[in-house]
Amino acid sequence: MKELLSIEGLSKSYKHVQAIKNLNLLISEGQAFGILGPNGSGKTTTLSIITGIIRQDSGSFSWFGEESLPGHRKSIGSLIESPHFYPYLNLEKNLRIICDIKGASYRDIPRVLEISKLKERSKSRFSTLSLGMKQRLGIAAALLADPQVLVLDEPTNGLDPEGIAEVREIVIEQVTGGKTLILASHILSEVEKICSHVAILKKGELLACGPVRELLSEEEIIEVSCRDNQLLKQKLRHSKLVREIEPGNGVLVLTLEEGVGAGDINAFAFSNNLVLSHMYSRKRSLESQFLELVKEES
Ligand code: ATP
Repeated sequence: MKELLSIEGLSKSYKHVQAIKNLNLLISEGQAFGILGPNGSGKTTTLSIITGIIRQDSGSFSWFGEESLPGHRKSIGSLIESPHFYPYLNLEKNLRIICDIKGASYRDIPRVLEISKLKERSKSRFSTLSLGMKQRLGIAAALLADPQVLVLDEPTNGLDPEGIAEVREIVIEQVTGGKTLILASHILSEVEKICSHVAILKKGELLACGPVRELLSEEEIIEVSCRDNQLLKQKLRHSKLVREIEPGNGVLVLTLEEGVGAGDINAFAFSNNLVLSHMYSRKRSLESQFLELVKEES
């Protein structure tokens, strides 16, 4: 997968508050990448820096392998915090203003109104829209000029369940259509439903990062290694203990079948004359870290 966004050692403080501390992230093309963390963990600050709204104090980021953001602005559609529109203008006229700012063609307006299910309301004043419709118009604006990347900050904030489902459907459609998504949210289930990868932030620091199914799933994932990882892999393949085996950095990453524990793997290896030199359960540590995070949230 091609690298899309690389963030290296990013830090930002507001007077006495350190919003993000030495943040490192790598996002690849086509990923639906969630940035998950409670209020105040630095999500908006991170998205604001990478979209050029504010500047970092230190560290760097690059889009498409280049440090210069202006050349890539058209490839990145964003909705950071609440969308700003003119209340007395209709949707089409509001989107024309955004087209002028972005240098997009007015001909793209019907397409984005269709995607955001607002076509029938194109002549309505912005002020007459429901909160969910306003949010969908924000997404429509972000989609003008058909960017390759969609950056969304808490797009379902404040919406009722129906509004949340509508926004989610639009976002998932975009990901399925091939766009890369970077989505900030404080809601675990939202990230689980939409994203393939997630970074968990807490007080501006990266707590964990990886595929959603590894980090947030109930499955136990363990790393093992022994003197002959290839042989262990072969043996495990024929056992009924593991669902998946992926090679890691000198280790095997195992997704265990339900009811199978780390002890079973250890015993199995030993009975095959393979003594494990490394065994590490990822789930437990991440789960406890995440529980801590959720506890603070509530
Ligand atoms: P939320 O979901 O509540 O927006 P967040 O995870 O997006 O939270 P940020 O908005 O990035 O977090 O805020 C990170 C920290 O920086 C918080 O402690 C916040 O109070 C502080 N902060 C953010 N913006 C400013 C600002 N303009 N001036 C002072 N402090 C700020």
